[in-house]
Amino acid sequence: MSIDKQESVKKLFTAQSAKVETNKGDAYYNELYDRCRARLDELKKLKPLNNRMDFMQSIEEEGLERRDFLKWASATTAMLMLPASFTPLVAEAAVMMNRLPVIWIELQDCAGNSEALLRSDGPKIDDIILDIISLEFHETLMAPSGHQAEKQLEDAVEHFKGKYLLFVEGSIPQGIDGHFGTIGAKAETFIDHTLRLAKDAAAVVAVGSCATFGGIPAAAPNPTDAVGVMDVVKGKPIINIPACPANPSNMVGVLLHYVLTGSIPELDSLLRPKFAFGYRIHDNCERRAHFDAGEYVEEWGDEGAKNNFCLYKVGCKGPMTFNNCSIIRYNEAVNWPIGVGRGCIGCSEPDFWDKYAYERPMANANIKAPTGGVEKTVDEFGLGLLTAAGIGIAIHAAASAVAGKKSEEV
Ligand code: SF4
Ligand code: SF4
Repeated sequence: MSIDKQESVKKLFTAQSAKVETNKGDAYYNELYDRCRARLDELKKLKPLNNRMDFMQSIEEEGLERRDFLKWASATTAMLMLPASFTPLVAEAAVMMNRLPVIWIELQDCAGNSEALLRSDGPKIDDIILDIISLEFHETLMAPSGHQAEKQLEDAVEHFKGKYLLFVEGSIPQGIDGHFGTIGAKAETFIDHTLRLAKDAAAVVAVGSCATFGGIPAAAPNPTDAVGVMDVVKGKPIINIPACPANPSNMVGVLLHYVLTGSIPELDSLLRPKFAFGYRIHDNCERRAHFDAGEYVEEWGDEGAKNNFCLYKVGCKGPMTFNNCSIIRYNEAVNWPIGVGRGCIGCSEPDFWDKYAYERPMANANIKAPTGGVEKTVDEFGLGLLTAAGIGIAIHAAASAVAGKKSEEV
C-alpha cells in the first residue's frame, strides 16, 4: 500500500472508530496498554518458532523502508480501533508474529482464501507478516503430501496443543453423515477432522464466506447440506472473517490482535471482528454522494455508468453489507468492485449467494434485508457485541514442525 494510501486509510479508520467506540475511556485503554506491554515482554523472551525469516530483514530485502513500516503500523493501529499511542506496540507485535503457531485446513472450498493469503503483485507489509507467521500446516502450500503431510499435522497438533490458531477455509458438508467430504487415508470426514483439530486449538478462525456461513456450497438447493464452522464447532472461541475471498488485511488484523493482546478481537453478533465489519460498505463508498443526490446507473453502459453514479438500481448491496473493503480495498489497495463499476454482492453476509448476488436492488426484491432497509445504521442494526473472550495466548518454547519452514531454532 502506498504511503499516501496508508494515510487516507488511517484517517478513514480513525473517523469510523471514533463513531463506533464511544464508550471506552482512558482507564480501559491504560489497562489494555499495560496488558499488551506485559504480554509483548513475555513473548520477547521466547525464541521464534521459525527463525529463517526475520521481519525487519524481510522488510529491507523487499525494498521497503523503516518509514513505510511505521506508516503501516500507524494505519493498522487505527484499523484495529486502538489509540495512536498503541502504534509502537503494534509494530513490536508485527515483529513477533513468528511466535504464533498456525494450522490451516481446507475443506469444501476453491482455495481462494489461500490465494488471497499468497497474493500478490508486489510485496507489502501485510504480505510479509503472513510470510513470517509459523504456518505449521497448510496442505496446499507445504512440500510434503500423503502420509508425510498427515504426520506433520499430527506432530503440530501434539506439539502446540492448546496454543495454535486453527484457520479453516471452506464449508463443512453434513449430508450422508459427512461423507461428501473426507480427508486422508482413513477417510476422516470434514466434520470429524474439524472437530478434532478444533479441540486442541486456542481459537478457531473461519476464513472466507464458505467457512463462515456456508458460502456458495450452501446456496440453494445446498446438495451437501453445507454449513459454516460455527454451526459445527462449539465451546471454542470462533472468529469469522467472511468475504469471497477474505481480505488478507483482516487476517493480519486478527493475528496481530491476538499476538498483541492475547485475546480475540471484539466481535459482532455474527462473530465477525468489529474492527473490520463494523462498517457498512455504503457509508464509505466513493459513489455515496450520487446515492444521496438520487443519481443512479439505470442500466449497464448508460450515461450514469459513464459518470460513475451510484449502482444501487443495478443491484448494489452495499447498503446492507458490513465490511471494510470500501476502505482497505483489494490488490494492494489498488481498487475494489464498486471502484471498477460493479455493485457489491454482499459477499460478507450470511446466505449472500441466495439473497444478494443478483442484479436487483433489495427494494425491488421482496426480501427483507438484515438491516431492515437501506438507511439503517450500524448501531440500529445492532452489532450485539460479544465481549472479547480472553483466551490467553499460550506460550510455547518448541520447534516448528513444517518441513521447508523448519528452523535451526530452539
Ligand atoms: S448503493 Fe452501492 S454504489 Fe451506491 S453508494 Fe451505496 S455502496 Fe456505493
Ligand atoms: S464490495 Fe461487497 S461483494 Fe465486493 S468484496 Fe466487498 S463485501 Fe464482498
